[in-house]
Amino acid sequence: MIYNLPKPWNEPVYSYSLVSPERELLKKELDRQLNTAVEIPLIIGGKEIRKGTVKEIRCPHDHGKVLGTYFEATENEIELAVKAAIAAKEKWKKMAWSDRAAVFQKAASLISTKYRYILNAATMLGQSKNVHQAEIDATCETADFLRFNSYFMQEIYKEQPQYETHIWNRMEYRPLEGFVFAVSPFNFTAIGANLPTAPAMMGNTVVWKPASTSILSNYYFMQLLMEAGIPDGVINFLPSKGSVVSKIVFNDPDFAGIHFTGSTGVFNSMWKTISGNIENYRTYPRIVGETGGKDYVFVDKSADMKAAATGIIRAGFEYQGQKCSACSRVYAPSSKWAELKELLTEMVSRIKMGDVTDFTNFMNAVIDEAAFDSTMKYIDIAKNSKEAEILYGGNGNKTKGYFIEPTIVVTENPHFITMEEEIFAPVVTVYVYDDNNLETALDLVDNTSPYALTGAVFARGRDTLVEISERLSETAGNFYINDKCSGAVVGCQPFGGSRASGTNDKAGSHLNLLRWTSPRTIKENFAPPKDFEYPWMQE
Ligand code: NAD
Repeated sequence: MIYNLPKPWNEPVYSYSLVSPERELLKKELDRQLNTAVEIPLIIGGKEIRKGTVKEIRCPHDHGKVLGTYFEATENEIELAVKAAIAAKEKWKKMAWSDRAAVFQKAASLISTKYRYILNAATMLGQSKNVHQAEIDATCETADFLRFNSYFMQEIYKEQPQYETHIWNRMEYRPLEGFVFAVSPFNFTAIGANLPTAPAMMGNTVVWKPASTSILSNYYFMQLLMEAGIPDGVINFLPSKGSVVSKIVFNDPDFAGIHFTGSTGVFNSMWKTISGNIENYRTYPRIVGETGGKDYVFVDKSADMKAAATGIIRAGFEYQGQKCSACSRVYAPSSKWAELKELLTEMVSRIKMGDVTDFTNFMNAVIDEAAFDSTMKYIDIAKNSKEAEILYGGNGNKTKGYFIEPTIVVTENPHFITMEEEIFAPVVTVYVYDDNNLETALDLVDNTSPYALTGAVFARGRDTLVEISERLSETAGNFYINDKCSGAVVGCQPFGGSRASGTNDKAGSHLNLLRWTSPRTIKENFAPPKDFEYPWMQE
């Protein structure tokens, strides 16, 4: 039977305006989650396991508030999870692709209906996102990943080699031999969902280690996958310490691939460990990682300054600058700096920050104390440096929650530390360049940081746009023209960067799914030759 999945669509973004029904429903769910302490088990082979160290889940914007507890797996449970993934493999890989797809289609439907407010509220409370940021992440992007990837899987399977006379050539898209390890970051519920499901869709079974600071939303996602009928052991939910789980997983001969998103340092250390163990594996593991960024906005003197300022403010401060695509360095043209500066200060002064349950807040808290402390160190360096000044913000307060003001630093040194290092917080640094010398400024954009994730240019003339776009071609895997450098949508802007930003396997596209298959080419001859001699051998 040949089935056909129709072209997917992007999940509509709800507005949550004052009069909308969704606003009430979400508020109810926020109340429910604030008043129910959940106890989150490990889920291994489809079974809930309550073993390991008990840890608390707290709201970053109100760290006195405990939302629940979770179990952190110890070596025993980690070994169990690996075994469960391997045990589930045979049956799952043999299941018709359409049945596998149906699990994820059903999961997407559950997200856009029953689980919408559950996932959004958990993301708001557990990861400190405002309502809009939670909606576009936990609901829309997550549903999009599942719908688009199912469709891409079908399109990959359709691709078959040429038929020859009497010979049928086929391509069998096998999953990888072994199990896949998915390690996800805190900042997107959707990434937590995509990292284990993309390999699973292609017939792999997975051990999924979520980040400790996004356990709540990730657990609800795991629950909905089970409600969607995912067979036991296909995805094993394993909150655990990175160093402990890595030691076991990377030592296993059946380790077949890592699907990682997180910081460059952690990814580099994983790659080294894998390389060190290379002789022990049954197969060369696939190493897929999307990592850090130092994303820029380049403003040309011809730009619409209001559009540029809006792009900088949104990309710099939405979700407190904790998107891998967040704008953190700006190149401002000298002749227009006065105008841009005024617009930026006016806009940033209107930003309200506070609890996620107050919908008038544009910003909330950074994820935890470590993030707070490390960001304040960078701000202090800027405060104490002769090469920089704080144009706006610069204060933090962690008494109730981890709040850091949206901060704009201006520096005269294009290589100032906050222009080069990823801070992952609401800190944007501006360097004002001499706009009589565009080439030198573009060289700086290219050579300042080791990353190449996202970048945006604001300019008017086509000639200028072409020149900038060509000169900056290696500086970003996602390049934006007259738009902010964040906010990629699945199916529309496949996401990923190069250089120190990752392997650029483009989450939310068929390119990523290709990493989770190890195709077998099958040649079947319907009229095989019956004698070894060829015609050219005759006298
Ligand atoms: P992180 O690197 O601290 O953690 C990511 C995950 O790795 C977590 O689950 C963590 O527990 C785990 N981990 C840490 N050490 C480990 C180890 N030794 N072995 C195994 N797992 C280990 O990153 P984070 O703070 O969660 O997320 C922020 C980072 O992620 C930023 O650098 C950001 O740029 C990056 N990011 C990149 C993208 C992208 O698409 N390029 C998207 C989102 C986030």
